Amino acid sequence: MQPGASLQDRFGRSISYLRVSVTEHCNFRCEYCSPAGGTPYFEGDEHLTSGEQQRILGLFARMGLQHVRFTGGEPLIHPRILDLVSHAAHLKVGKISISTNGILLEKLAQPLQKAGLNNLNISIDTLKPEVFRQVTRGGDLARVLRGIEAAKAAGIRRIKINTVLLRDVNGDDLEELAIFALDLGLDIRFIETMPLGQSGEESVGSRFLPAHEARKTLERHFGSLIPVASSRDNGPAMLYRVPGSGSSGRVGFITPLSENFCSSCNRVRLTSSGRLVYCLGSEDGMDLRRLLRNGDITDGQLIDAIQQGVWHEKPERHEFLENPARSSKIFMMRLGG
Ligand code: SAM
Ligand code: SF4
Repeated sequence: MQPGASLQDRFGRSISYLRVSVTEHCNFRCEYCSPAGGTPYFEGDEHLTSGEQQRILGLFARMGLQHVRFTGGEPLIHPRILDLVSHAAHLKVGKISISTNGILLEKLAQPLQKAGLNNLNISIDTLKPEVFRQVTRGGDLARVLRGIEAAKAAGIRRIKINTVLLRDVNGDDLEELAIFALDLGLDIRFIETMPLGQSGEESVGSRFLPAHEARKTLERHFGSLIPVASSRDNGPAMLYRVPGSGSSGRVGFITPLSENFCSSCNRVRLTSSGRLVYCLGSEDGMDLRRLLRNGDITDGQLIDAIQQGVWHEKPERHEFLENPARSSKIFMMRLGG
């Protein structure tokens, strides 16, 4: 293994983005993501220690990691989340992100910013407190809104709102959500629901709201949205400016189902139990925890194993719809949605 070696797959894609699910547990139980009773117990799912997580981050940094996202489950319930962010900053990973439901942000926004966080996605599906409570199975919208204010006040460089499109939850409120984000100068990205796991499967069907329909609804209100030249930084989102809004915020759509974007995929995932997963469409992957605990394996050997795994195993595209048997077994909170 040469210093500075990169991570490539056999379809010509460079992998420079690692999503780390730091825990599969969560303090919300969103209907489309979590079982009603919360995260089940998975036999044999022992967690990585934070030392092991830091070692893996170091390996990826040596392979040209440009972006790490801590997610879950809810990453802000992890007791060492600040250490993980600091470690990524120490490794000089340029973009350090968190996806959060925002409920603990009021307290943590400032320490996270100080630790080096520069990119934050906050999930919010509705601005109606009762509907919010229902879809998250108990979440307190007012507290999340205070968390967003705290993140802005802390000066975290890029803050985005993520909204899962669900006809019955927000089909009639898309303009309200867009105005909310734009007034704060934030991007809002509308995400098509994915049929992953039982909760995801139950949330497609009649609840599914395709992004093209959401866009038409917004255009009826705002006029034609103005496409923004795509940048690799936007990931799979198609972004638009809202005419006349005067806001620096933009509206985006993420369409894993209606428009496949796998050809530009630049990411792999690490579960909290140390499985390196090559695609959100399958829980298959490499048991890095077992390798790490295999006595005196060197960093060079680990890097070789990761490079081989990505090259041979990363699939060309997800098969959410073509392979429902596989999709139904996926547990989003473990894979880090
Ligand atoms: N708890 C954090 C949060 O809610 O942002 C991070 C983990 S959550 C799994 C990451 C993202 O996945 C959230 O924006 C959530 O809305 C989205 N998500 C969860 N289940 C989904 C599904 N079935 N389809 C599409 N997006 C989903
Ligand atoms: Fe928790 Fe996020 Fe899943 Fe909601 S979407 S249950 S907040 S992990």
